[in-house]
Amino acid sequence: MKKFAIAIHGGAETTKPSELDNKKEEAYKDGLADALKAGYDVLEKGGSALDAVEAAVNSMERNPLFNAGRGASLTERGENEFDAAIMDGNTLRVGAVGAVRYVQHPISLAKVILQKCDYCLLVGTGAEEFALANNLSLKGPEYFVTPEKKEAWLDKQQNKVEKKRMPGSMTDTVGAVALDINGNLAAATSTGGLTDQLKGRVGDTPIIGGGTFANNEVCAVSCTGEGEVIMRGALAHEVYAMMKYAGHSLQAATEKAIQLHADKLQGDRGILSMDSSGKVAFGFNTGFMKRGYWAADEEPFVALWESEKLKKPVKQKEMEK
Ligand code: ASP
Repeated sequence: MKKFAIAIHGGAETTKPSELDNKKEEAYKDGLADALKAGYDVLEKGGSALDAVEAAVNSMERNPLFNAGRGASLTERGENEFDAAIMDGNTLRVGAVGAVRYVQHPISLAKVILQKCDYCLLVGTGAEEFALANNLSLKGPEYFVTPEKKEAWLDKQQNKVEKKRMPGSMTDTVGAVALDINGNLAAATSTGGLTDQLKGRVGDTPIIGGGTFANNEVCAVSCTGEGEVIMRGALAHEVYAMMKYAGHSLQAATEKAIQLHADKLQGDRGILSMDSSGKVAFGFNTGFMKRGYWAADEEPFVALWESEKLKKPVKQKEMEK
């Protein structure tokens, strides 16, 4: 069997076990399993890494539990604004969007930009017009805004002095990296940003080398956490650079990137990376990162807490959903 693999994250944020009940944990794991299967199915049929990461991210964009697409966090005005990026490790082509409000699947818009546009990054109404011109589905706030995210936004509004992210506010990006049977790597990241962020704020997600990066030669990377920290550290590119120029392993580069400039850049960081052999590394300083991995001929696994470092098979029943 030819080698292929997919890995995903559903965000990392500082959270304690007491802040999450079992039902929610199971729901996250089900959502991760669904996304993993969506990506794996593409790869198993011989599809491209690019299509696989899009499929996995689409699944989480549809799932209101995650902070991407439907159910994403709200800005200080109580509105959705999405950022997304996708990168093809083979061609180094990129598509990225910032601050779009009505695109049902921001990652699919990013992919159309990668495929059809001479530019890498489109924002706001220009990006939305490009989505319309390419027949992508647009939706209104009634589709995107869920009661849970509205409540998280209200909490944040009422605690205006508390500028830091609150644990459990679920401001967590989704992402995927994949290796296909042709040896191509791809990375995709999609987010609703931070709860109560300023209108027009764009995070690390669509910043190439910040929150998203892929190059067949070395690795594919998708980040989550505080965008301002991740983009200032150029963390996705740092993983690549430490492997390429300093000869670090995937695991070492990912762990080092989590610590990089820690004195000057403090905040939540989560990094998902995959090397050109399909090996995966998850790095995070939050104690909690929703994550999953499935390689050809191996058992799939999903995990949430740091202590779940060992592979944990997902029940077959869950994978068949
Ligand atoms: N990185 C995202 C942003 O800053 C948010 C997250 O991953 O939680 O927009």
